[in-house]
Amino acid sequence: STHRAEGEYARQSLQAPASMEAFWMPFTANRQFKARPRLLASAQGMYYRDVEGRQILDGAAGLWCCNAGHARERIVGAIQQQAATLDFAPTFQMGSPLPFVLAERLAEIAPPGLQHVFFTNSGSEAVDSAMKIALAYHRARGEGQRTKFIGREKAYHGVGFGGMSIGGLPNNRKWFGPLLAGVDHLRHTLDLQRNAFTPGLPKHGVELAEDLERLIALHDASTIAAVFVEPISGSAGVVLPPEGYLQRLREICDRHGILLVFDEVITGFGRVGKAFAAQRFGVTPDLMTTAKGLTNGSVPMGAVFVADAVHETFMHGPPGAIEFFHGYTYSGHPLACAAALATLDTYAEEQLFERAIELAGHWERAIQSLKGAPNVIDLRNFGLIGAIELAPREGAPGARGYEVFERAFHEGDLLVRVTGDTIALSPPLIIEPAQIERIVNVLGETIRKVE
Ligand code: PLP
Repeated sequence: STHRAEGEYARQSLQAPASMEAFWMPFTANRQFKARPRLLASAQGMYYRDVEGRQILDGAAGLWCCNAGHARERIVGAIQQQAATLDFAPTFQMGSPLPFVLAERLAEIAPPGLQHVFFTNSGSEAVDSAMKIALAYHRARGEGQRTKFIGREKAYHGVGFGGMSIGGLPNNRKWFGPLLAGVDHLRHTLDLQRNAFTPGLPKHGVELAEDLERLIALHDASTIAAVFVEPISGSAGVVLPPEGYLQRLREICDRHGILLVFDEVITGFGRVGKAFAAQRFGVTPDLMTTAKGLTNGSVPMGAVFVADAVHETFMHGPPGAIEFFHGYTYSGHPLACAAALATLDTYAEEQLFERAIELAGHWERAIQSLKGAPNVIDLRNFGLIGAIELAPREGAPGARGYEVFERAFHEGDLLVRVTGDTIALSPPLIIEPAQIERIVNVLGETIRKVE
């Protein structure tokens, strides 16, 4: 792969910036980073190139986004041509063709019955939108007292006040006051005692779904709007659902008239071998939030998939009345729609969802081969997701994980994701077996060095 940069701004992408002072970086130790930056300059296929010209293998699909690999020609062309054709068009009381075309395409690959799509610009906005759809749905049905939400410990649902509130990451919550009222949390399903080194789904823990019955009894079903879970959590450290767990949540929600929402921001678009984890697990939610792989990460976009029955509830008022008082200036942005359409075509043409299934056995053996490496206390895998759990250093949780991440990048030319002492892996679905070997070899060596 070589640097391809045409034009004034792309050329600036290839060199370290003159100053790094003004950009306040998100979710980053700014002072530490700016003292020793990791700057990606260009990307192609499975690889990044950094500003020093080193080729970096992408073990993270950027940030769980680039499922088809980087700078795919069809997507690049779609964005360029769309920018020159229709750069922007409002979608409030106005329209343009592409959001309609894209929503129909998405409905084709969606789980059965989720045939309506609300567009946002990110996963966080998709979560907020889903929360508002849930509230307004119950209100439209005369159950306006259903205002509470159930989330889960260790969950990540983005950074809006809604997503933060239903999320379960202490660091993301504690700085920001009381958050949304009326939210309770299920226990998480990570069990390093009973399930350590289990390939695929955990065998133990289905009983944790009964937490939902307990919280329903505590709050009364008639007050609860929706339950939000990630089928598989990513940012919170790759937590897998025990066998039968999601089915059980579905049954309990059905029994009590509570909406079940799957946050598929990282599991969507082939990561686990089907378009969505809902299909892989055979459990259909009422709402499904997505982003990231929707445009292969190329242009910001999110979407909420909405069950037909939920959507139908909104369509009963006077025909001239706005049914849902919600939306973003950039909902259904033409560039994002073009990028998404080209992305869906790329996934389909190269059968990348199926590829994630084909490679999963190889992936599992590779990940699980790290058993016995120093300080490795658990290995998890499902589809093309992997996690290496390291024992925290005494008094310094996260330090060992961060060192592995940093050294894998600087010394192993490998990009992975770190959260706490968990190394999370989610390569583009175009990965070749030899590149899988390289990922585990680099990580095995790095983990030994960091011991
Ligand atoms: N929900 C889940 C499950 C996520 O993993 C993420 C991002 O990692 C989000 C929501 C937030 O998405 P965004 O960063 O696009 O707002």
